[in-house]
Amino acid sequence: MSLARARDQRIADQAATGDELRCMARDCPNLWSVDKGDRCCSAHAWAEPHEWPRITQEQQALSAERARAASNRVYKPPRQYTREEKRELLNRLLHAFRKVPA
Ligand SMILES: [Zn+2]
Repeated sequence: MSLARARDQRIADQAATGDELRCMARDCPNLWSVDKGDRCCSAHAWAEPHEWPRITQEQQALSAERARAASNRVYKPPRQYTREEKRELLNRLLHAFRKVPA
């Protein structure tokens, strides 16, 4: 197995479980981002261990809020341009490129 293929397989294995990517603080919803021997999210990594339960609760509340906001997001379909509008945009781009020195 080539080195690149072995690396790709390792990444795929990690993605399959996801646990290797989790912050090590119990019940923390975040992925780890700071490796100081223990892999923690940035919220836990720089705090004292006795503060972790409170921080975990804060992170869980933030995660829930992000999920709620994402579920309320309204999908806005992309604008549809007419053939004439497309032609005008392309002309404006062409003129803009002509003004840029080579
Ligand atoms: Zn964490």
